Order: sequence, then C-alpha cells, then structure tokens
Amino acid sequence: MLKSIRAALAMSVITLTALGASSAFASPLKVVASFTVIADFAKNVGGDRVDITTIVGPDGDAHVYEPSPADAVAMAKADIVLVNGLHFEGFLQRLVDASATKASIVTLTTGVTPIDFKPEFADAAEGAGSGSGKTVTDPHAFQSIANAKIYVKNIAEAFCAADSEGCVSYQTNAAAYTKKLDALEGEVRAAIQSIPEAKRVVITSHDAFGYFEHEYGLIFLAPQGISTDSEPSAADVAKLVEQVKQDKAEAIFVENITNPRLIEQIANETGIKVGGTLYSDALSQPDGPGSTYIDMMRNNIRQIKGAILGS
Ligand code: ZN
Repeated sequence: MLKSIRAALAMSVITLTALGASSAFASPLKVVASFTVIADFAKNVGGDRVDITTIVGPDGDAHVYEPSPADAVAMAKADIVLVNGLHFEGFLQRLVDASATKASIVTLTTGVTPIDFKPEFADAAEGAGSGSGKTVTDPHAFQSIANAKIYVKNIAEAFCAADSEGCVSYQTNAAAYTKKLDALEGEVRAAIQSIPEAKRVVITSHDAFGYFEHEYGLIFLAPQGISTDSEPSAADVAKLVEQVKQDKAEAIFVENITNPRLIEQIANETGIKVGGTLYSDALSQPDGPGSTYIDMMRNNIRQIKGAILGS
C-alpha cells in the first residue's frame, strides 16, 4: 500500500514537473510596452518567450495619449511594464493607478545621462514649466543609439529577473541586437559626416531630436518645444521664420506624430520645401518606412541627407 502511494506520488511529481516545464513555454511573459520603440526593443530581446502589448501604437503621440479601458486591462494582467520615464508618458501614473497593476514598472532610461531641453523655444513648452526659467529634462533619450543600447540592457535584466530560465536566451538576443545597433550607429555617423558642417541645421515641429543632435551633431530647430501638448506662440513661429530666412536652416520636416499644419505654414512663409517625414516619438505602421527602430533611424538619416544634399 505504502509502496503504491509512494509510486503514485513519484508519478505525480514527474507529471507536475513535466507540466511546469511545458507551461513555461505555453505562457510567455506578459509584457506591456508604453510605446512602439520600446515594444520593438522588447521583441528583439524577448523573442518567443514574451507576449507584448503596446499602449501608444504606430504614429501615436505619447505626450498627449489618453489611455483606454483595454490599456488598463493589459496593465492589470502584465508581469512587466516597460516605460521610457523622464516624464515622456504623461498618462503613465494615471494608468498604473487605474489598473492597480502588480507588475514591476521598469524605467528604461535608468543609466542614461539626461540632457536638458534647449532654451531657444522653451516658451512653447510652458506646460512643462520651462517658460518660467526652470530647466526641463528632454525625455527623448531613445533618439541616441548609444542610449538605445542602455534600454536594451535594462530590458534583458528585467526579463532575466522575471524569468531566470530564459535568461541565457535574453542575454544572447540582447548581445546580437546590440551588434546591429553598433552598425547602425556607424551608418548614422557616416551620413551626418557626409553633410557639410554649415548645412547641418534642420527644422522639425517638436523638439524630439535633442539626443540625436547631442550625439551626432545635426542641429534641430523646433517651434513646438519638447512636448506636443501646447501650441507654439506666434512669436516663436516668427522667430523661426526669421532664422530660416537668414539661411540658417537647410531643410524642414514634418513628423509622423504631429499635425503638419505648422510646418506647412513655415514652409509657405519661407519658401523652403518640406523635405519629408521624420519618425520622432513613434514607429510607423508595419508597412511604413520605419516599422522598427533600426528602419526608423535609417529612414530619418536618408530623409535628412536627401533634403539637404538633394540626393
Ligand atoms: Zn516628443
């Protein structure tokens, strides 16, 4: 009798172990990414072991995004929530509170050296307090590829902490993807080097490219300031028009996340042609030219080079 119970117990332990192993594959880590760039990094690191839900989708604007009930449900079910931080996601705290999520919230800009928003058009970002002379941290750290590698490292660490069995796979994927980012960094530097220094000034609608400028040496002027949640003043627009007329800017771009009206107005007033669309705070739709982070960066340098050099 005792023997058969022991045998039955041994059998059930084997069965449970087998079930445990298979269910680890059957139920991937539930990951919520606050926006598309982070979702792309998470996919590259997590592969099949993660199931990713993205809050702010392709061409979406995280600055002014209003979460939906479905977002709260995804947050409540999540194991891990990956966010940019530095106040990029204005909606985040409300969504965390509303969903009562137990997930760990991982801030991917941890370890990044933050830079301050350029003061020239700070009045446009009054909502963020820069008009009052306070400094404002630029949240768009992912526009530097060096920073993107820090995001990737932080994601791998978060996935390892949540799923130790998958850790080797996460680390391997992160290393392979980081190599691709190294190559991309070389491409971006070479593209900017090919533009004569005096011509490295362009205009975009909002100031999303501060880290790109800091890292690669192309100057961006933006009437709308660091966030899209406020309209630029007439004085800011006039100042920008004046700069363009003095031949200080070589090209002007619309952004995928913002209304092109303001840029079209500046283009009309200055006679400078719109050079194309830059992807700033979101990836494109899957069939667009910037549906991954790497494609987004390639698209942006191609557009900038093409508009400035006419090639
Ligand atoms: Zn932005």
